[in-house]
Amino acid sequence: MVVVTLQRNKCIGCNYCVELAPEHFRMSKKDGKSVLLHAVEKKGFYTLKSPDNAIYEECDQAAKACPVKIITTKLL
Ligand code: SF4
Repeated sequence: MVVVTLQRNKCIGCNYCVELAPEHFRMSKKDGKSVLLHAVEKKGFYTLKSPDNAIYEECDQAAKACPVKIITTKLL
């Protein structure tokens, strides 16, 4: 199981996560911030839980590249 979180309100719209993990992140045309696809929102944190461990690597690359460090990844 892979768990990815995004603290969306702090996103500065740099697009790195979209470049590194395009299947999981998109830029919103509305507010220019990143959207974590298929995520559930709770108190400003968006969480994606996936049974597909293969997505961990690219989501983790996105987390490491994020300049404001608002993406976390966990492999459970
Ligand atoms: S890498 Fe971080 S700051 Fe840049 S668009 Fe993605 S979430 Fe936002």
